[in-house]
Amino acid sequence: MEFKGKTALITGSARGIGKAIAERFAGLGAKIVISDVLLDLAEATAAEFKSKGYEAIAVKANVTDAGEVAHLIDETVARFQTLDILVNNAGITRDTLLVRMSEEDWDKVLDINLKGAFLVTQAAAKIMMKQRSGRIINISSVVGRMGNAGQANYAASKAGLIGLTKAVAKELAGRNVTVNAVAPGYIATEMTEKLSPAAKEAFLANIPLKRAGSPGDIAGVVAFLASDDASYITGQVIGIDGGLLM
Ligand code: NAD
Repeated sequence: MEFKGKTALITGSARGIGKAIAERFAGLGAKIVISDVLLDLAEATAAEFKSKGYEAIAVKANVTDAGEVAHLIDETVARFQTLDILVNNAGITRDTLLVRMSEEDWDKVLDINLKGAFLVTQAAAKIMMKQRSGRIINISSVVGRMGNAGQANYAASKAGLIGLTKAVAKELAGRNVTVNAVAPGYIATEMTEKLSPAAKEAFLANIPLKRAGSPGDIAGVVAFLASDDASYITGQVIGIDGGLLM
């Protein structure tokens, strides 16, 4: 896999899975846009990449804000001329049982995880359609496919991302833009750090490969989906969950 001359924009890439994806693309030669709502952390990540000899910029963008998203895409093209790969990775959890879930927690999760992906995809698609090439990869979740108690909002957002993936894949296929999703299982990051020991054990007990995944496990599959080897794959959801869902 090689991404020399290509530009990859990853939302929510200041840390965690997004950062690992960004680093994988950088190592394979891509120019990287680190984008996050946390500007200081995004700048620190971009500085770390530059110190390793990678080409990277940091742009603050809250994916729920159409104006900030427009600025993100403008900055990307102004700096790197193209936008070849978009990874919609920004996401949050606000877990609680349905009967206790506030409307605010519902809206916040749907807004960032689903509407955010819509806004960034829409803005990026305009560039990719003109280029007649592009790759969009959405970070869904195993929870969007199998549900999970305490995550009604998150599961709905991640299932929604799968619908978005398939609809947009059909719309953009004629312009040589592929759109796929990955559905990670239990991956060790700051997001899952806050799970209770009992919840972590429950996950592990059901994972045939008997370990949590790493951000690198996700990055490798995302890079494959963005590569030339995946040019005939679109509208698909690839599970990366140690066999949790078969
Ligand atoms: P994380 O919390 O470490 O990283 C998420 C990043 O998104 C953070 O840097 C955060 O600042 C950023 N972000 C949050 N709100 C944003 C907004 N409005 N605009 C822009 N950026 C925003 O979490 P992670 O585990 O690295 O998760 C990354 C993605 O992977 C998420 O979409 C998550 O739902 C998904 N995922 C994670 C797991 C897991 O087990 N960790 C499993 C399945 C899917």
